[in-house]
Amino acid sequence: MISSLFFVANWKMHKTLEQGQTFVKEFLPHLSSSNKVKIAIAPPFTLLHPLRGLLKGKNVFLAAQDCHWEDRGAFTGEISPPMLVDAGCQYVILGHSERRKYFGETPLLIGKKLVSSLKAGLSPIFCVGETLEKREEGKTKKILEEQMQETLEMLKDPPSDFVIAYEPVWAIGTGQVASPEQIMEAHGFIHQWLQNHWRNQVKCLVLYGGSVTSDNVSDFMGEPMVQGALVGGASLQADSFSRLIQESIAKRWPEP
Ligand code: PEP
Repeated sequence: MISSLFFVANWKMHKTLEQGQTFVKEFLPHLSSSNKVKIAIAPPFTLLHPLRGLLKGKNVFLAAQDCHWEDRGAFTGEISPPMLVDAGCQYVILGHSERRKYFGETPLLIGKKLVSSLKAGLSPIFCVGETLEKREEGKTKKILEEQMQETLEMLKDPPSDFVIAYEPVWAIGTGQVASPEQIMEAHGFIHQWLQNHWRNQVKCLVLYGGSVTSDNVSDFMGEPMVQGALVGGASLQADSFSRLIQESIAKRWPEP
């Protein structure tokens, strides 16, 4: 199992240019020197280019929050995977529950985006997770299975590098973090799925997302099956995001 940790800041529809630049200037001095930790920031599209310059050589990667599935064309308002690469992105978040809920994204559509992102050289951060209703019906694993199966079967070959974020919908932006047991159960299921379908051919990190803060991250970050976090609210301030990362490192690799 992979021993490094990956932290992704999902800024959603937050921050002006000045606010984004301020974040980076405040965040960079807190950067861990540990080469076991990888960090990506997913700002709004408008900040990709300007942040690229500030992050150059700093070991903090850029991620987009979404993309279109075509490389170019008459798709007003859309951004393509090659454009994201051109703007300096290494990663793209796909299938976030807010995209599924507010923009009607289906597993098939997400699969198309996945295929074209990989073709452009981006590493997708593929989000899966159940609603509260489905959890209460006891259908969490069924939902995860469907979301992974229907989308990932569109890939002809297993990708060489991949990230899955388990994000229970009821935990996103609600302050209600999943319990360590719920996280372990879902992560165990995802790891098993990956082993059954992709054997050990794919280097895949499985992250947890949903109301993660520096106060709760050490409850589950000691578990090898959790390989990082996708963070919304707590990633908007440089000090809370860097504290969350420091707490995770301390939990994962305790000082003797
Ligand atoms: C997210 O947007 O993916 C997320 C997990 O948000 P939050 O940390 O605010 O729950």
